[in-house]
Amino acid sequence: MNEESLRILIREKLASGLLPGHDCTKILGGPSNGETCDACGETLAKSQLVMECIGEHYPKALQFHVRCFYIWDSERGTPGAEPTE
Ligand SMILES: [Zn+2]
Repeated sequence: MNEESLRILIREKLASGLLPGHDCTKILGGPSNGETCDACGETLAKSQLVMECIGEHYPKALQFHVRCFYIWDSERGTPGAEPTE
């Protein structure tokens, strides 16, 4: 999946509420254990880092690829806003 389609997917999930955009109070990074990425839905390879986001939805942490996390983090600040690029 290229970055633009990933960004669109994450933006749609934020808009529909499938992904929370505000209740992330703590972010952890660590080695993956084969988790599923909450943004793109793909499995994290064991060689990849997983970014875990803990908030009000605890104990269910959001889990992201590093790339998906950065896109989510940049998109979540402006829910419903027009794309700036
Ligand atoms: Zn992902």
